[in-house]
Amino acid sequence: MSTTGGLMNESSGLSRPAGPWMRHALELAHRAAAEGEVPVGAVVVKDGEVVGEGWNRVIGLNDPSAHAEILALRSAGERLGNYRLPGCSLYVTLEPCMMCAGAMIHARLDRVVYGADDPKTGAAGGKFDLLDNPAHNHAPAVEGGCLASECSVLLKDFFRQRR
Ligand code: ZN
Repeated sequence: MSTTGGLMNESSGLSRPAGPWMRHALELAHRAAAEGEVPVGAVVVKDGEVVGEGWNRVIGLNDPSAHAEILALRSAGERLGNYRLPGCSLYVTLEPCMMCAGAMIHARLDRVVYGADDPKTGAAGGKFDLLDNPAHNHAPAVEGGCLASECSVLLKDFFRQRR
């Protein structure tokens, strides 16, 4: 326990390996694919526990805001009884868009970890750089490229089958 004590005390998961949480997000992305949605999945983690889950459901819910991250933030907010989510980390299989980056800042997340880069609409530096912007009064720590190849293969396979 002496070597892991620091990890156990880390509420936001900053010093924990991101892989297992991203795997969980990938499972949710598969659920989106099974529903005919662009396969993106997201989980919110606090104190080493999943407190929110979401997968892209824009078509199913007729809701342009029903991105995986938004739904994961909503479920975490409900679960924790708070519209702000300090001490939480969000893991998402694709670089977040502008809308989701905005919601993440409003939520006061500690950390955002994403998988595949999105050079078309990504707001963590892929296309825009919103998450890491000193103009905001809060900026979560951001890490990209977690299980990136698995996350992007899932997306590529999905779009290949659509064509
Ligand atoms: Zn989004």
